[in-house]
Amino acid sequence: MIVDKQGRQFRNLRVSLTAACNYACTYCVPNGQRLQPAAHELGGDELLKAVALLVSAGGINKLRITGGEPLLSPKFDVFAAGLADLKLDDIAITTNGQLIERKREALLGSAIKRANISLDTLDAQRFSEIARGGDLATVLRGIDLLQDAGWKLKVNMVPLRSANADQIVPLLEYCMERDIELRYIELMNMGHLRTGNGFAKDFFGMEDILQLIGKSYEYSRADAPFDSTSVRYKVPGHGHFGIIANESAPFCSTCTRLRLASNGDIYGCLSNSNHHSMKHLIELPEHEALPQLQALLGNALQDKQDLSFRGEVTVMKFIGG
Ligand code: SAM
Repeated sequence: MIVDKQGRQFRNLRVSLTAACNYACTYCVPNGQRLQPAAHELGGDELLKAVALLVSAGGINKLRITGGEPLLSPKFDVFAAGLADLKLDDIAITTNGQLIERKREALLGSAIKRANISLDTLDAQRFSEIARGGDLATVLRGIDLLQDAGWKLKVNMVPLRSANADQIVPLLEYCMERDIELRYIELMNMGHLRTGNGFAKDFFGMEDILQLIGKSYEYSRADAPFDSTSVRYKVPGHGHFGIIANESAPFCSTCTRLRLASNGDIYGCLSNSNHHSMKHLIELPEHEALPQLQALLGNALQDKQDLSFRGEVTVMKFIGG
């Protein structure tokens, strides 16, 4: 077992299937250009092998598929179909939801049973302005489809002071009516936000979010798993919501996340651009690959922050949000 001096281990693996995305969200990319696959991305089978090695070497028991936009990638079908063999306790996906209907068969036939759908507004016009792509009604139909299939869903919203703060309560009501947990993700100071004034202008933190919700609903703190990134709240009689408060209530000291980028690089921390390539290990026999991978994982674990998120120039879509 690989454990650091703060007692942290890798348990949760996030796999970025591709850096490509069909959105160009204002807070993720600076210039409105759709994202392309990264150079030298691994194929679906190679990513499955990499995950199998990480499961054997590192004690991983939970996996989340992300990106870029995972449903945009032609690898998705192969990757999703191979997951059942990996003996994981929990497999989930983070998606912008635009392609759920088109990928219905691959999704519903896979071992994935939970999804987080990113949705920053219920206003169709504002939706196009923030995502710079996609269609709100299609996402909402995708949410209904997965719920009807019995999937457990969360919705992720990034509140932005200048663009969607007025959607904080409407989105909460939309989610509570459907028994979906809404999670507000505090804006992270990443990529182009670090170099301009975008972060300072748009950051809308936990205190502001709670104050706004408090005008319409009573809420109280609720339990969350020890390594949860989210501070959870209960709205009596209505449901739960959470805030991923990377700035206001950092969760680095209990972080169990490891990221595998689509090019085979592993990242121990979202707030650290250090990375370690495991691409060369995929073709090795397991008895040779595992010790080398364990050494890489030990180094990646040291990349974690002691206390709090510092931000990073790395863009989320490369290493998987
Ligand atoms: N395309 C998928 C999606 O939209 O869910 C998965 C990848 S996306 C990078 C994952 C999540 O990261 C989304 O919920 C997105 O809103 C969030 N995200 C991207 N940049 C962010 C930032 N600077 N701060 C906070 N969240 C961010």
